[in-house]
Amino acid sequence: MKKKNYAIAIDGPAASGKSTAAKGVAKKLSFLYVDTGAMYRAFTLFMLERNKDPQSVKDAEELIKDCFIKEDKDGRVYLNGVDVTEECRSDIVTKNVSYACAHLKVREHLVKLQQEMAKDNSVVMDGRDIGTVVLKDADLKVYQVASSDARALRRYKENMQKGIACSLEEIKKDIERRDYIDSHRENSPLRMASDAILLDTSDMTIEEEIEAIISLFYEKVGL
Ligand code: C5P
Repeated sequence: MKKKNYAIAIDGPAASGKSTAAKGVAKKLSFLYVDTGAMYRAFTLFMLERNKDPQSVKDAEELIKDCFIKEDKDGRVYLNGVDVTEECRSDIVTKNVSYACAHLKVREHLVKLQQEMAKDNSVVMDGRDIGTVVLKDADLKVYQVASSDARALRRYKENMQKGIACSLEEIKKDIERRDYIDSHRENSPLRMASDAILLDTSDMTIEEEIEAIISLFYEKVGL
């Protein structure tokens, strides 16, 4: 008999710690981790490299056809065969990604890729529309939130550790701006699926987040 593939969907606003938690959960359960934000970031980078306007539907629809994005099992992202994992996280990409990802054709293209990745693997996938669109039948759906102060401070500390100069105030503003665009767009806006579990991680350590998600998963699937 074919072994069942499991799916855990983690959605939530920017910098709510989804990726770190999702990565940790995937490692502990030996599931594949899929960072869908990185795929939208890679497409944004592709548009910017070609001097295209991320807000233009026409430019986005034209370019998505030539854009081959792949994520390997270590979470590295490849854009037409080139490893762009670090470049995807640059300031200019972060500033434009919420525009480039909002186009219907772009979303359809990348959602298909994401669903294919979940077909043959047990996955932990994080993003904005995983529980509502990409993996509607996920075994567990988590909607992870944290106050914008807590989120900004986490991102600030991460940047400091990486030696990236930044201002806490700027980070907070950018997080709030992205959340606004992501939750007000027409196609697959950020929202909590009706069957998702709300997890407020404002006062949790990353280890506590991982443990909480794994406990919820075992509870849900009865393991
Ligand atoms: O998760 P991350 O912050 O890297 O995502 C970058 C951006 O990609 C988000 O702000 C959002 O605009 C977009 N995104 C999306 N749908 C997803 C994942 C990310 O629209 N499933």
